Amino acid sequence: MIAITSVTVTDERIAEIVLYIEKQGVAAHVSKGEDRTVIGIIGKADPQLAEHLRQMAGIEQVIKISKSYKLASRDFHPADTVIRIKDVAIGGDELVIMGGPCAVESPEQIDEIARLVKAAGGQVLRGGAFKPRTGPYSFQGVGVEGLEMMAEAGRKHGLLTITEVMTPEYVDVCAAHADILQVGTRNMQNFDLLRKLGSIQTPVLLKRGFSATYDEFLNAAEYILAGGNPNVMLCERGIRTFESYTRNTLDLAAIPVLKQLSHLPVISDPSHGTGRRELVEPMTKASVAAGADGLIIEMHTDPDNSMTGDGVQSLFPDQFARLLSDLEKLAPLCGKRFETSKEPVLAGSWKL
Ligand code: PEP
Ligand code: MN
Repeated sequence: MIAITSVTVTDERIAEIVLYIEKQGVAAHVSKGEDRTVIGIIGKADPQLAEHLRQMAGIEQVIKISKSYKLASRDFHPADTVIRIKDVAIGGDELVIMGGPCAVESPEQIDEIARLVKAAGGQVLRGGAFKPRTGPYSFQGVGVEGLEMMAEAGRKHGLLTITEVMTPEYVDVCAAHADILQVGTRNMQNFDLLRKLGSIQTPVLLKRGFSATYDEFLNAAEYILAGGNPNVMLCERGIRTFESYTRNTLDLAAIPVLKQLSHLPVISDPSHGTGRRELVEPMTKASVAAGADGLIIEMHTDPDNSMTGDGVQSLFPDQFARLLSDLEKLAPLCGKRFETSKEPVLAGSWKL
């Protein structure tokens, strides 16, 4: 249930209403809009509460919400959530580009790729140190050492970092090294992991399970929010369909649907969403047109020899740079701001 205040209500009156709600044994979640405030009521409320609230001074409307997720819902929180990390804001008018390899492989590899992400104008370096592989004999990632390599590359090149965390026990060490923690598609409903991520404040990029509905996806986000971490972004990364030409089917409609249902930033992953390098550029542009707040894109200097099978979907650095330069023109048409780097590019082994 939500209670919407009248335009003229004072902060003192809102505080009194919140106190009244809490005395009824339920939680009140206040979301201030431009002229009205939405008070979300969470918990099993007395059936009479809605009627009592309707009679109270300062309240204009009381609406019952039937959705199972509350904190993730736009009904509870009408304004867009903007997650600020250092000088990057995710979910506002800035288009945020996260680029890098599927897996961190060596200090030289991640350093060189970080240089190229920065040179192209990306704001965030991606790279997995712990890899969720379908088969147990495949390369599983370089582990904690990889976190250190990536943190160092991020620092040196002035990039934020994002890395995947797979188990609750590794959340603290991953959070100590990375700015954003990624929950992979295979772990979207790993509830112990989600609960642990709810207990910290590090921003989380939650990937949609490859066969999850929007409702299941938003309920997974709700676990993190309900634990007390408001810094959650949703990532559409493709779902499993009958089509086998592409690795997954990137559900472009998910982007505007999630933006309608939720206030959380929405990121698109055209790399895992298609599994094919030649489709990354068009699906990146389509995602921006559909309203994505950011992209997470795989890029590698030697994709044919990458240590995971994801080289086939990784862009070469020059393709990545060209794509970002196109986004500089496209983003403003889609209500976003994006600038390629104007800083001099440090020399490295890969020539742009
Ligand atoms: C990845 O980002 O490299 C990854 C494994 O993603 P997903 O969980 O979407 O498959
Ligand atoms: Mn990958």
